Amino acid sequence: MENPINTISSITVFLLILLLIGCSTSEEFSGYSYDPKDVTETSDKETNPHYTRVIGVNDGKIWVSNDFPGARMNDFYQVNDSLYRVAIKPERDAINNSPWYAFQIWSVEPDTIKLQLDYEHGDHRYIPKLSKDSRHWQRIDSTNYSADTTRGTATLTLNLERKPLWVSAQELFTWNDYKAWADSLTKKSFISQDTVGFSHNNHPIIKLNISETNTDEPRGVMIITGRLHPPEVTGALGTEAFINELASDTELAKKFRNNFEIWAYPFANPDGVQQGHWRYNARGVDLNRDWEHFKQPETRAIRNDLLPLKNDSLRKVYYGIDFHSTDENIFYPINREEKTFPDDFTYQWIDSLKKEFPEYPIEVEPFPPNSPITKNWIFHTFGADAVTYETSDEAPRDSMRTVTRESARIIMEQLIEEQKQ
Ligand SMILES: [Zn+2]
Repeated sequence: MENPINTISSITVFLLILLLIGCSTSEEFSGYSYDPKDVTETSDKETNPHYTRVIGVNDGKIWVSNDFPGARMNDFYQVNDSLYRVAIKPERDAINNSPWYAFQIWSVEPDTIKLQLDYEHGDHRYIPKLSKDSRHWQRIDSTNYSADTTRGTATLTLNLERKPLWVSAQELFTWNDYKAWADSLTKKSFISQDTVGFSHNNHPIIKLNISETNTDEPRGVMIITGRLHPPEVTGALGTEAFINELASDTELAKKFRNNFEIWAYPFANPDGVQQGHWRYNARGVDLNRDWEHFKQPETRAIRNDLLPLKNDSLRKVYYGIDFHSTDENIFYPINREEKTFPDDFTYQWIDSLKKEFPEYPIEVEPFPPNSPITKNWIFHTFGADAVTYETSDEAPRDSMRTVTRESARIIMEQLIEEQKQ
């Protein structure tokens, strides 16, 4: 008679084999539902030109310009006495629906006009933000704005004067803003700035090192990436708030920096941001689909900088966060069944965050780690837990910052606890 324990272990082995077969025959990832076809084929692509233009219409009375970093405006027309139209096109025809626009508009004489935003290969998405100096922004008053969801356009009522008005999908947060922020942080003795590589258009890929660890002792590492997708400004503001909290003078942040190093790459797609792209880098590639083949210099630079951590006897990667924006506040953790280190970490901090902000809308949607995105590469390479941290496009900026800073505090507390175990 067969030993019952052997029978049980044979069944276990059989089930394990079934599971492995199941995994190996699962279909290869080819893109999410909202991705264009072939998104994971990340070699250089041909892109549409975007010419720098200053255009005057109505006998030189109304003008627009796209002559600044982050701008996107392809053409400008007068439709009738009071209606004007801006034409906006993406950097490549096959693209996600994140139609970015940014331009200046002015009038030789004070005038009130209607302006239609008209998109090729996309439908209107972002509520316009207005600024008189490109630094202070306000969402357009709802009485001056209507979106036509059938046609995918939006019409704005604008009071124009000679001084240019900036109209943009989101606040502008471009190279100079990152540089000023990074430079102000590096005034602190425990923060340094590196260049880990260069984009296609020769922008540095910036890295911030934040740490007060003892160089001879073992310590943890937290990886942060941001702005792989150009229009995702609330994700950028979130990255800034999150890192500012890690770099703050609180007891908690100091304690954290005594035990952990922060390796942050907050501006991963500088070319896309500077060129006012909807999604891609300068060669028309979605950088958050290139974490398997690494065909783009931006992703390669970050990977090459991180890889030595694999065989570092003193540093252990504990966590990775990749900041993005979408139409809601949502976290994408790795499927709970996957064994990560620390295990179940993301689910625990999100629970704490939800308890502290019961009124603040926070969604959670676990994903299998089978796509070539940043978070999954961190998990597969280091075994560490990681999350895609998505902030709502229209999140009120102040409360978003408050919640993000609190999430940084919870993560620091939890990581310090994990390290003790
Ligand atoms: Zn994104």
